[in-house]
Formats: sequence, structure tokens, C-alpha cells
Amino acid sequence: MNISRIDAYIRREERLERLTRRDIEAMQLRKLNALLRREKERGGFYRELPEHLDALSELAELPFTTDEDLAQHAAGLLLCSQAEIRRVLSDATSGTTGAAKRVFYTEGDLENTVRLFVTGLGEFVYPGSVTMICMPFSGPHGLGELIAEAISRLGARPLKVGVGKSYGELREILERERPDSFVGMPAPLLALLRVCGRGSLRRALVSGDACPQSVTSACEELLQSRLFPHYGSREMALGGAICCPAHEGMHLREQHVIAEIVDERGRVLPWGETGELVITTIGMEAMPLIRYRTGDFTRILPAPCPCGSEVLRLDTLRRRAEPGDIFALDEALFALPSLVDFRAERGERGLRIEALFAGAPDTDALRERAAAACPGTEIGISARPVREDDRPLYPGKRRILLP
Ligand SMILES: [Zn+2]
Repeated sequence: MNISRIDAYIRREERLERLTRRDIEAMQLRKLNALLRREKERGGFYRELPEHLDALSELAELPFTTDEDLAQHAAGLLLCSQAEIRRVLSDATSGTTGAAKRVFYTEGDLENTVRLFVTGLGEFVYPGSVTMICMPFSGPHGLGELIAEAISRLGARPLKVGVGKSYGELREILERERPDSFVGMPAPLLALLRVCGRGSLRRALVSGDACPQSVTSACEELLQSRLFPHYGSREMALGGAICCPAHEGMHLREQHVIAEIVDERGRVLPWGETGELVITTIGMEAMPLIRYRTGDFTRILPAPCPCGSEVLRLDTLRRRAEPGDIFALDEALFALPSLVDFRAERGERGLRIEALFAGAPDTDALRERAAAACPGTEIGISARPVREDDRPLYPGKRRILLP
């Protein structure tokens, strides 16, 4: 039987002959105990935790790590020296205290992320081909650069497009460079395909924002191939879980991350039930976290995957619903086949939607769908055909703008 790419990758890295659940969990327990022992020895942030667990199930008894901890105790959480840090990501908006949440990476952490990307992208990026990367390029070791490095290692050529280009510029890039694959966020991919037409790209990996079913279906119809979703977060050094050819969930890099799903009271849920994803990043060098609450909701799909792997799979992820959540509106509106993009803003007089269409705007259908998605809300719409100088209406994650 063929060995799946995710299995081959983990077996190679960990020098394992087989990769059954038992092998995976034994490896995770060994790494977790090494981390607990190191924390005790150095008097780190987790020094009060036991220094040894007899079973992986005992992890459920340890306390959670929160965004507040990341903001307040970054120095205590750091396991490496300042000299070993290659990159810091900080987020000034998180946490109630206003302190910035900071996550640090070493060279090894970033290398592990690139290797995961090589494994995931290797499913559909072929040697000699061209891949356009519509992710932020924020300097050395940024997300875009890590993806570009992975594409180069696969023998393909990365096109560093970034985010925020106009549709005219994107069309020109497609015509000049002829990329066949794409890496970027889901809604901008759909917009690009709806402006530039079916077959302008062949295969795509989407990440960085929630992906409603309507967006997935429309992208797959225009690409004439299945999407490869990816899940990552800063706490996992940007790379976390990758899609295999079965397209049923995303395999987690379990040699570096232990996943649990918990209910709202923090109790661990069995596989198959939906709750908040909690991660223990046993493989991170700079800043391993124990039971970090991600704020992302999903479930673990039962093993094994049709690809043969027993590596844990996460289902589609959703952020914790909070004011400004645009998911339901995206789901409803992007089902309209000519909608390129829209921006939504909540004001005193209800919801204002600014929409761009490929061709004549279908305002009535848009209003009807928005009303069904947001019952009891007054809806104002301005819609026009998309122009070549238009750009994606959201530079990053999508959300309803609040007053
Ligand atoms: Zn699989």
C-alpha cells in the first residue's frame, strides 16, 4: 500500500518504522514529558505543573494557557535564548489588558513549518510549474516567504504576488506568468476566478480565513479541481494541518502538536464532537505552549483517513462567533454566481453592503439573501460592476465592520 505524504513525512522526521495511533501517542507523551521536565528544571512559566505524566490522557488535568498568558508572560514562556529568535509575531489588539500577545520562533521552528508546507503543497505543486502566492510578504521568515521557500524546494517557481493587487494587475500576472496553482485566502481566490474566468488557475490551497461551503463549491467549480485547505496559527508557527488527496479534513502535524477538543466548560470531548481546539505545541523550540485555547472551533474526524493515515484530522474550522462575524453572510452571498466581493458595515440604520459584480449587479437577489442571513436587520445595498482597478475589499480576514 502507498504511504501517504503526511505519514512519510512524520516517519522520516521521527525515524519511526510505523505510524499507528499507538506510535503517535507514545511519541507525543515522550515529548510532552521532556517539555515538562525542562520547565521544572529551568523554573519556567509551567514550573508548577507535574514533571511527568503516565498517560497522554492526564494532559486533560493540566490548566489552560490563554492569550492573556501570552501577552503577560512571554519572557517566562520563552524556552530559547534571545539570540536564537528569528522572528516575533505580535498582536497589539488581543487581550483585555491591551498588552501585545507575542509568539517567538527559532530557525528550527521555521524550518519545521517549511517542511510541513512542502508536504502539503507537494500534493498539487509539480516540478517546473508556477505557483502564485497571494499571502502577505512581511519580510524574511514571514508567511509568504515560508510558502515561497517550500514551493522552491518542490522544484516549482513561486510568484510572490502578495495581497492587495488590483484585478487588472492580477489578470496581467496570470497572462504573463501562466501560474497553474494558487496559495492564498479563500474569498480573494473566488474573486480572482470570477473576474478572470474558469480555468485561469487549476489548483489551489486556501488558508488564513474561514472558508464557507458556498465559496469552496464555487472555487472548485471554476478551478475544476478540489481545494486543498490548510489550517495554521501563530502559536503553531503558522503551519498546522494539511489536506491529503482524500479531501476529508486536514492532518495535523502530530509530532509537534497535540490536539484536544473541549466544551465551553473546558471538559475534553470525544473524537467526532465539535468544540474549541486546544493545542499543546510539544515540537516548538522557542515557545512551546501547554493546552493553549485557540478560539477556533472544530471536531476531530475518526481515524483512519481514506488515504490510509492514522494521523489525526481536523474538520473545517470556525472562529469563536463574536460581533462582526461575517461567516453566515459570506455563506449566503457568495452563492450568487456573479458576486465578486462585498464589504459589510453595521451602522445605526442597519447593515450597509457594498458589492462588486462580474457584469450587471443582481441587487434584488443580493438583498433577498442578505435579509435571509440577517433577519430583522434593515439592509442598504450599493452595487456596481467590478472594474480592473478594483482591489479586494478586505486586505486581511473578513468581518462585518462595526461602528
Ligand atoms: Zn488522509
